[in-house]
Amino acid sequence: MDQTTTEIPPKIFTCQLCGLSSPFVYYGQKPPNTRAIVLLEECFVTKDPFSPEKEKFLVLGSTCSLCSLCVCVASDCSLFYTKRFCMRCVNKHLDQFPHQIQAELAKKKQQSSKAAVS
Ligand SMILES: [Zn+2]
Ligand SMILES: [Zn+2]
Repeated sequence: MDQTTTEIPPKIFTCQLCGLSSPFVYYGQKPPNTRAIVLLEECFVTKDPFSPEKEKFLVLGSTCSLCSLCVCVASDCSLFYTKRFCMRCVNKHLDQFPHQIQAELAKKKQQSSKAAVS
């Protein structure tokens, strides 16, 4: 262990389902330099590269509340329903989600299989 190293390695968020990776500046519920933003969950946050405003930020992803897998916010990777769930856990516990969510997921599955065919 080299205790003299002061350089902090860049923090990289990697989605463990789709492999998306991006450096992040903050993990938590209240990003720095934002006035009144408190997120609903602890998230990996990065600065919005397309905005000159300091307060703009992007949520990259979060950790699954069941298995603590790091997942991005893409609808293929995770679902937010009171808490963050990765798609693996969603599929595993689908019967415990409300019918509305089940219906939405079924609809999405249909759409993506259609897209794969054409
Ligand atoms: Zn992902
Ligand atoms: Zn999970």
